[in-house]
Amino acid sequence: MSILSIANQNVHGLVAYQPGKPVEETARELGLRPEDIVKLASNENSLGPSPKAVEAMQRAASGAHIYPDGAAFALRSRLAAEHGVDFGCTVVANGSSELIELLGHAFLQPGAAVIAADYAFTLYPIVARLMGAQYVSVPNRDKWIHDLDAMLAAITPETRLVFITNPTNPVGSMVTQAELETFIARVPEHVVVAIDEAYIEFAGEQTDSVQFVRQGRNVVVLRTFSKAYGLAGIRCGYAITTPEIAQLLNKARSPFNVNSLAQAAALAALDDKEHIARSVQMVNQGRQMFARFFEQMGVEFVPSHTNFILANVGNGVEVFRKALAQGVIMRPMAAYGLDAYIRITIGNALENTRCIEVLTNILADRQQA
Ligand SMILES: *Cc1c(COP(=O)(O)O)cnc(C)c1O
Repeated sequence: MSILSIANQNVHGLVAYQPGKPVEETARELGLRPEDIVKLASNENSLGPSPKAVEAMQRAASGAHIYPDGAAFALRSRLAAEHGVDFGCTVVANGSSELIELLGHAFLQPGAAVIAADYAFTLYPIVARLMGAQYVSVPNRDKWIHDLDAMLAAITPETRLVFITNPTNPVGSMVTQAELETFIARVPEHVVVAIDEAYIEFAGEQTDSVQFVRQGRNVVVLRTFSKAYGLAGIRCGYAITTPEIAQLLNKARSPFNVNSLAQAAALAALDDKEHIARSVQMVNQGRQMFARFFEQMGVEFVPSHTNFILANVGNGVEVFRKALAQGVIMRPMAAYGLDAYIRITIGNALENTRCIEVLTNILADRQQA
């Protein structure tokens, strides 16, 4: 008997999430030192974490024998104050990835449906299918931008969750506050709208989606410490939502889902606004650098509101392999059905320059061929 036959068939049918290629593995394969590898594949922050967060983790380390505060009282109080909502409107989790999973646990079962836009974060379909729900992917308008009217039209009595990623990953596009307001005003009551704002700090024009929560709408705003805060390794994200939904998510999570070092780091990171400002400035400069480069090379790219940029290089996997051989890790987009594209995380000036050099050579070869 194969053990697979007794497995949950929803799990059995999944394709595991493919993370960006790790630096150590690449260094080993190429015979290079890890320091010589430039990883621009996972939208991490090249500035690193706030020094205040690092200090807080060092202080917290000596208390690592004690279970963390399961209610994350200090962190959630701080987040509530930051967003002008009640403590009971907050949920913290082991990365916003865990919140996406908790939304699945709380709202999905066989027969339910989930709506998201084309080229959405691959975790959404994984969670939908894990829960036995149907996953509906709605084509974008102008190829790259969430078509909120079409997403609204796709809602059926079975729909439980709609994911809006704003700004989007892996595209980098964004919808406006006015578009969000029109959409939320028309969403029926049996649907929960998750607005995933993993990249919101990098957006040119900030939207205010927490106001929908204050208005009592079934909205879950998802935020993370992984991107602008430079804390992807500690795994901490949070949701701002209505007390009813927060309670459901808090019931569905495991008791100590955010560890004590992560709680300390996140709390300290919230105090370092200067670090966020520097991260945003670095990304703004890098985005301009890549945009100018792609314009000069005649390479199509999507104007980005995030810390990465999506570009049409003709053959994404081939460019990924060639850049990898020179120690620069990018992200090919074939898994999203975007075979011609690569996604490049904006790094620091040195990393961006190195990446542009490597790309210049690869693209020049291509034009000669
Ligand atoms: C990076 C990212 C997240 C955040 O994931 P964490 O689990 O918090 O590290 C969430 N949503 C999207 C679309 C992302 O790109």
